[in-house]
Amino acid sequence: MKIATMKTPEQVTIPLQQHAGEVCNPVVCVGDIVSVGQLIGDGTSMIHSSVSGEVTAISELPHPAGKNVLSVVIKTHDGEKKDFKPADLSASKMSRIVRDAGIVEPNGLPTVYKKADIDTIIINGTNTGDLSSNAALMLNHPSEIVDGLRALIKSSGAKKAIIVIELDSEALHVMRTETIPDSDIKIVATPTYYPAGTENTLAKKFARKKVPRGSTPEDRGVLISSIASMKALYDVVHDGMPMIKKTITVTGAVRSPGNVLANIGTPIKHVIDACGGCSGTPVKIVMNGAISGVAQYSDEVPVIKTTTGILVQTESDINREPPAPCINCAWCVDECPIGLMPHLLYGYADSAQFDKCAELYIGDCVECGMCAYVCPSKLPLVQIIRYGKHGVAEMEMEIETGEVEA
Ligand code: SF4
Ligand code: SF4
Repeated sequence: MKIATMKTPEQVTIPLQQHAGEVCNPVVCVGDIVSVGQLIGDGTSMIHSSVSGEVTAISELPHPAGKNVLSVVIKTHDGEKKDFKPADLSASKMSRIVRDAGIVEPNGLPTVYKKADIDTIIINGTNTGDLSSNAALMLNHPSEIVDGLRALIKSSGAKKAIIVIELDSEALHVMRTETIPDSDIKIVATPTYYPAGTENTLAKKFARKKVPRGSTPEDRGVLISSIASMKALYDVVHDGMPMIKKTITVTGAVRSPGNVLANIGTPIKHVIDACGGCSGTPVKIVMNGAISGVAQYSDEVPVIKTTTGILVQTESDINREPPAPCINCAWCVDECPIGLMPHLLYGYADSAQFDKCAELYIGDCVECGMCAYVCPSKLPLVQIIRYGKHGVAEMEMEIETGEVEA
């Protein structure tokens, strides 16, 4: 399973929000010449240029989340790789290195640990549904991933680390070979199931730490991270290169499906073209997996740090049946890996009863999409739950700022 490296596009559009949190402030101006790896956005995370070139615009542009976001447009030209020496690696400096490199997890949260007493690190090497970028990264960069993990072990003081890989993955043998000399890194095989990668599930299953509601795995001494983050850690620690590229699975109605390494900011239509283009008439492009991904409203939206896959669908792939009313079958409740009540969350979010959503722990939803997958009424549960989460966040913000009473 090879990862194809894309040609640098003529222009990239780099959104200043590719993480959970506020939009970053641009630290470049139109007309500036930037180089690969140069900081272009600063704030709740760090954002770097994935190309060398000239900044031609800084404006609100389409974003994979379905809204316009302040973005830096860079017209590329051949440039030298930035001569950037990594800072000395020490335990106390790792958090800063990670932050400065703008490394974020696939869920948009930064790859840093806030608690001092991390005992176990779990790296999620499973692939969800139609995505295979984790396996591709492990097959193509096993030693870099292990080196990135070693750096994380050293800096966090963790006693052990576990890389979880599916039993039928080609990467299992490769990673086992790579880690034989290490006693503190174990490769653990797991049957294929979905969703394998929810943080609480991983902590419970592989570190035997149950995470109570309202807590995080870190509260129990478990740090969960990803294969892509370990490769990104290696890139910054060894090459001084911040997070400027992403390995993406391109699948569905494309002529040469596979994994490609794309610069952050590359329009997704260029990524599809790099895979031979569409093999039919596309009617839907979904980012980040068929089960829990988000349909895109334009093929001009760029690859961002949280992009893991692009799925192209034609008319015959799409079920256009309109949703029916909830029949209270509770299948969604049975399937929810977090133990939530998706049908109730749907009803409360749909009727903007955000206080009730908060009472039912809507914030714990990991947006895995299992509820929607099994729902016989084909209700858009994840989209409405997402809407409910935003409603709860706004409600809490208003309470905090005193705009409404608690
Ligand atoms: S998407 Fe649905 S099944 Fe998945 S965690 Fe959220 S409520 Fe539960
Ligand atoms: S699976 Fe669908 S129909 Fe059944 S209870 Fe959940 S939301 Fe309602």
